[in-house]
Amino acid sequence: MGEHFCLKCGGGGHPKPAFRIREAMEPKHISTSQSGYRNRILARISASESRELLAQAEPIDLPLGKVLREPASADKFLYFLEEGMASATALSSAGASVEVGLIGREGFVGISSVLGHPGSPHHTIMQVAGRGFSLPTGSFRAEFLRGGPMAHAVHDFIYAQLAQAAQTALCNRLHATEPRLARWLLMTSDIVEADTLQLTQEFLAQMIGAERSTATIAAGALKRAGLIDYHRGLVTIINRPMLEDAACECYSLLRAQFRAIFGADRASVG
Ligand SMILES: [Zn+2]
Repeated sequence: MGEHFCLKCGGGGHPKPAFRIREAMEPKHISTSQSGYRNRILARISASESRELLAQAEPIDLPLGKVLREPASADKFLYFLEEGMASATALSSAGASVEVGLIGREGFVGISSVLGHPGSPHHTIMQVAGRGFSLPTGSFRAEFLRGGPMAHAVHDFIYAQLAQAAQTALCNRLHATEPRLARWLLMTSDIVEADTLQLTQEFLAQMIGAERSTATIAAGALKRAGLIDYHRGLVTIINRPMLEDAACECYSLLRAQFRAIFGADRASVG
């Protein structure tokens, strides 16, 4: 894991992105709703009376490191992922950061503005390259406030994010680094629907709230045990059942919570 593959994120004061699926790597599953949208919120809009809102949706490429929101800024546009993963981080005044939320195609980026509180301190960037759609925040918020199937899907997403943030706080405080790392790799693999991920030690440490040297030791232990392999910054899950056994309880708890909220695993949510 000695080499960094991160692309330039182009901005200062936020976590350096360092994680993407290789272009040649195909997702394990492609689950698409009848609407043609893989994003769960967009699929709900498409199936509802408010589908004219989709006329304002612009397809957007979401490359690694794209900044989707800056701390304490209003979100002019919301971003709905169809592929890839966004990561929300909280920043300390000294510039340290820790991940507080992973966002895939079950939701979108910009929830605080939709709720009428655009001053959220979180910073969100694409940590796995993908694609999606943007929608003007004002139009989406107006439709959200009308209620209906889309609003229910947004409520599901908000609850899932709250549950994830709470479990992540517990995990960072109470669980050892190696099980935390196993948990995080499994969660990310589920979100992006791929078993091979590209990352740096620096990024990995940041995501699991550990020192870089501690994260390196944990990754080495998982590799020696034959659960993962890594070479030149590319991490591959090679024994998922054993990695699940090595992960802390948070992985199975969060997976069960996701299933309970959305009625499906990540791979088939839509
Ligand atoms: Zn945990």
